[in-house]
Amino acid sequence: MIDTHCHLDFDSFAEDLEQVLERAQLAGVTSFVNPSVDLESCKNALSLYRRWPQVHVAIGIHPNSCQDFDDSSLERLRELACQPGIVAIGEIGLDYYRNRCPPETQRRALRSQLRLAAECALPVIIHNREAAEDLLPILAEHARSLSPAMRERPGVLHSFSASAEVAWQALKLGYFLGFTGPVTFRKAEELRGIARQVPPDRLLVETDAPFLAPTPRRGKRNEPAWLPYIVDRLAGLHAVSTEKMAQLTADNAGMLFNLPL
Ligand SMILES: [Zn+2]
Repeated sequence: MIDTHCHLDFDSFAEDLEQVLERAQLAGVTSFVNPSVDLESCKNALSLYRRWPQVHVAIGIHPNSCQDFDDSSLERLRELACQPGIVAIGEIGLDYYRNRCPPETQRRALRSQLRLAAECALPVIIHNREAAEDLLPILAEHARSLSPAMRERPGVLHSFSASAEVAWQALKLGYFLGFTGPVTFRKAEELRGIARQVPPDRLLVETDAPFLAPTPRRGKRNEPAWLPYIVDRLAGLHAVSTEKMAQLTADNAGMLFNLPL
């Protein structure tokens, strides 16, 4: 299994990352994508990759950390984008729920980073909270700017939590949808209804650790070893075995992020 979104560089793992990775391995989770949230986090994620090459890295500036986003941040990202271990630009996007940065600044940072992704032929990891209306046209514009090969794998709407309508539009643009702990929550019938209808070749699984621990670990610090709860739930929704769902989501992750087999 591949955990396509976990923040292993966060402080919450500073004390016991070695054990966290061991527990993941024992649970069958052997490969990871660690998205960054700011320039500091890009550096930290890259140093994890140098120690553990199964921790692949996405570089980018999160919509909640883009207050000071300017040309020099973009230059810094451009320098990093060519480093070994980089598989995507992310996480980037729009967050109108927490709204820590002015929406206009968020959109500017998003557009600049999407252009960088197109330039480097890298997929993007998209964070969206209550911003789909502004996000989708920007993603459509991005899709049009891509080469035919990249149009097959533009990126993922990570921790998908929007409406069915947003899901269909994103799928039409070629995006993958990433499912996290909430798909296991008791009251998440609507989200499960969407997950059930996503074509199997567009499904991704992710923990978003340390956040969003799945049932029955809800409320605890999340970690990649708990990815199987999500795989299991999606397997049930698609009426396939857990092994089959693990395999197909790993294949999808391999395709999207161009991971070594
Ligand atoms: Zn995240």
